[in-house]
Amino acid sequence: MTSKARQLFEVITRTGPSSRPEPLPRRGDQFEQWLKAQRDACIGHATTYNAIDGLLDQYRLHADTGTPLDQHTCENGTPDDCHGCYEAAGKEQQ
Ligand SMILES: [Zn+2]
Repeated sequence: MTSKARQLFEVITRTGPSSRPEPLPRRGDQFEQWLKAQRDACIGHATTYNAIDGLLDQYRLHADTGTPLDQHTCENGTPDDCHGCYEAAGKEQQ
């Protein structure tokens, strides 16, 4: 593959150094708005409402700490001193 073709390939597949990183979660962005709308549509259904509200809180925490969605963040602090709550949360969900 020529370097020109490789560059094009990387742009298309978003794998190369020329690809831009995914935007970080941000308060007030369209995804937060969407989550909020989904939550508010569930008023009266406490279980669903609380579940989506928890997601919204989690999303806002990512926004406030500037943490990408594929990385762990929690109110206990950095992943280094969160005492394994990430693993614990994973077990709870099963
Ligand atoms: Zn944690």
